[in-house]
Amino acid sequence: MLPIDPSADKARRAWLPCPQCGDHEDCEICRSGRTCRHHWRYLLGNVAHVVHLQCPNCTHVWSQDTSG
Ligand SMILES: [Zn+2]
Ligand SMILES: [Zn+2]
Repeated sequence: MLPIDPSADKARRAWLPCPQCGDHEDCEICRSGRTCRHHWRYLLGNVAHVVHLQCPNCTHVWSQDTSG
């Protein structure tokens, strides 16, 4: 597992599914699109519509284009 990024800050979170562990998949709150207390990702940064995320559950780091 990777260490949690030093720039990770609980004050900056994003509610996007983790592509590695999919920990939200059995969660009714997440599946209904609400801001779940348990399943969120660190928002490490963003460039335009691309966000840089880390999952606190499995420490996976990835980037995702949120422009749709
Ligand atoms: Zn994960
Ligand atoms: Zn959840």
